[in-house]
Amino acid sequence: MTNSKPQTPNPKPKVAFFDFACCEGCQLTVIDALQTHLDLLDAVEIVQFREAMTEKGEDYQIAFIEGSCTRPSDELRLEKIRAQADIVVALGACAHLGGINALKNLHPLEDVRRWVYGDKAEWYETYEARPISAVIEVDAFIPGCPIDREEFVKVVKALLLGKKPPIPDYPLCVECKLKENVCLYHIGKVCMGPVVRAGCGAICPTNGNGCEGCRGLIPNPNENAMKDVLAEAGLTVEDILARFTMFNAYQMQGRE
Ligand code: SF4
Ligand code: SF4
Ligand code: SF4
Repeated sequence: MTNSKPQTPNPKPKVAFFDFACCEGCQLTVIDALQTHLDLLDAVEIVQFREAMTEKGEDYQIAFIEGSCTRPSDELRLEKIRAQADIVVALGACAHLGGINALKNLHPLEDVRRWVYGDKAEWYETYEARPISAVIEVDAFIPGCPIDREEFVKVVKALLLGKKPPIPDYPLCVECKLKENVCLYHIGKVCMGPVVRAGCGAICPTNGNGCEGCRGLIPNPNENAMKDVLAEAGLTVEDILARFTMFNAYQMQGRE
């Protein structure tokens, strides 16, 4: 008779969620996704998630970070999270791209401070908005404003299996064509689909609205050709710039 000890099950990976400058809509989407994917709650232990629980565990292996870095003090907090986590995931456009927060980078910082805080501008620290990858190393990202709930589930499952998250790097037009949509350019509308990352199911063009690029640009986008297409569609230089910078202002400033 063998005297084998009972096997201790592998501990569940501990997961924490953090927010920086953002609307927290991506965390809401996570809560929404977890309601219908209870298997994920069996596979991980959530130790910190301000929108969903009061506990604040500091021992975690996977950190999901929502929001942009917009203050010098954010850098220290990001570095602490990076030092603790084995895997850091940028959650949503604000964290992944800088997103709409980076629109402020197109204006003088002093003007922005006055517009937002009025005569109390000196009370609050702020600087140029940036994606979290500008401050710490990021292992994976989940694009979108907000994120897609099913893509969140797929990324978590890939990370738990030690696989590369399945984020497409081809243009949105591919998905749009697969849905057999009539291209919006044929009905007098404009769309950033040729240079924007797919993965959302081309939800905006499918519902009659031009893509504004919340999932970020594809690798090596042909920006000049896209600008020509927008100009041919009748957009002014200002309109073209606005299309490119709605979510990608930080990238259009020549930063990655
Ligand atoms: S990416 Fe969009 S939905 Fe998500 S936190 Fe930022 S503004 Fe909100
Ligand atoms: S509507 Fe937009 S995404 Fe769809 S094919 Fe036309 S440009 Fe591409
Ligand atoms: S179609 Fe464009 S703007 Fe709309 S969700 Fe997809 S990437 Fe974002």
